[in-house]
Amino acid sequence: MLQAVPAPPLLDVKDLTVQIDTRRGPLLAIDHISFHIARGEILGIVGESGAGKSLTGAAIINLLTPPIRRIQGEISLQGARIDGLSIQAMRELRGKKIGMIFQDPLTSLDPLATIAQQLIETLRAHLPLSPSAARARAIGLLREVGIPAPEQRIDAYPHAFSGGMRQRVVIALALAAEPELIIADEPTTALDVSVQAQIIELLKALCAQRGASIMLITHDMGVIAETADRVAVMYAGRIVEIGPVAQIIQSPRHPYTQGLMGAIPSLGADRTRLTQISGAMPRLTALPEGCAFAPRCTKAMALCQTQRPSLTPHEQGAAACFLLEGATV
Ligand code: SF4
Repeated sequence: MLQAVPAPPLLDVKDLTVQIDTRRGPLLAIDHISFHIARGEILGIVGESGAGKSLTGAAIINLLTPPIRRIQGEISLQGARIDGLSIQAMRELRGKKIGMIFQDPLTSLDPLATIAQQLIETLRAHLPLSPSAARARAIGLLREVGIPAPEQRIDAYPHAFSGGMRQRVVIALALAAEPELIIADEPTTALDVSVQAQIIELLKALCAQRGASIMLITHDMGVIAETADRVAVMYAGRIVEIGPVAQIIQSPRHPYTQGLMGAIPSLGADRTRLTQISGAMPRLTALPEGCAFAPRCTKAMALCQTQRPSLTPHEQGAAACFLLEGATV
C-alpha cells in the first residue's frame, strides 16, 4: 500500500547562517540555525536584543542589506525554495504570501498617504480587485481589526490614529492579501502596556480564522507563554532551546531559558524586561570559545569554556547544553 507523503511544513529553515562583513573580518550574526513552522502554528522566537531574532526574520524575507548577508541556508515556503528568488519575485512574495508587522507602526505606514490609499494599493497589488471592490474590502478589514467607524476613518492619515490603532491598521495591511505566514517583529513593544495584550489577541484570532501561521519575534517570554504553540530561544546567534511552549514553560532545560522564565513575575501580570540573568550577552566580536552563555551561567563547567554544545533532543524539543548530554560539574 502506498504511504501518504507528509505535507511539508509551511516554512522550513535549514542551516541559516548570516554574516556581517566588517573591516576586521566577518562576524557570524546567525550561526547555522534550523527550524520549521507548521500551517496555522505560532512559533515564538525569543531572546535578548542582539540575539539574532530580527535578523532571522529579515533573512527569511530577504531584507538584509550590506554589510549583512546570508551566506548559507535553505529557506522553503510550502515546500518551494525561496532563498534564491529574484528581488522582484521576493517583493511579490512579501505581502502576498508573507505579511510583516514591525515594532513601530509608523515604519510600515506612509505618513503622506491616507489609510484608504495604502490599503487599496496593497489589495490591488496582490488581488484582482476593482477600486470600489478594494475599498469595500479595505473597510471590511478595518472593521475586522477593530477600527471604529471604518467608513469614515479609512480616509484619515496615519497621524490621526493612536499607536494601538495604527498597529491595528498595520495588521489589516499585513493580512490584506491573505498571506500564509505573518512575521511579527516585536509587534507590541512600542505600544502602551494596556493595549499590548489586545493587539496580540487580535493578531492571534485573525490568523487562526485564516489558518495563517505566525513567526512571533519578541524579547518577552510572557508574550510567548500566552501566545505561541512552540518557541525557539535564541542566544548569540544560535537556537539554544526549541520545543512546545507548554513543555518549555514547565521544564526549561537550558540555563538561559530558565533565566528567561525567571524574568516573568507571573503570567498575565506586569512584565519586566529580562533583568534577572546577570551579565550581558557577549558582543559578536567577543564570543567566547566555548558555550556563549558560559560567562553568565551558574552551572558552567570546565568543558563549557572550550567546547560548544550542540542541540540535543529532549522530549519533544531540544536544547544546546552539556548538562543534557549528561555532563556533570
Ligand atoms: Fe551553562 Fe555549560 Fe550548559 Fe552552556 S553548556 S548553558 S555554560 S552548563
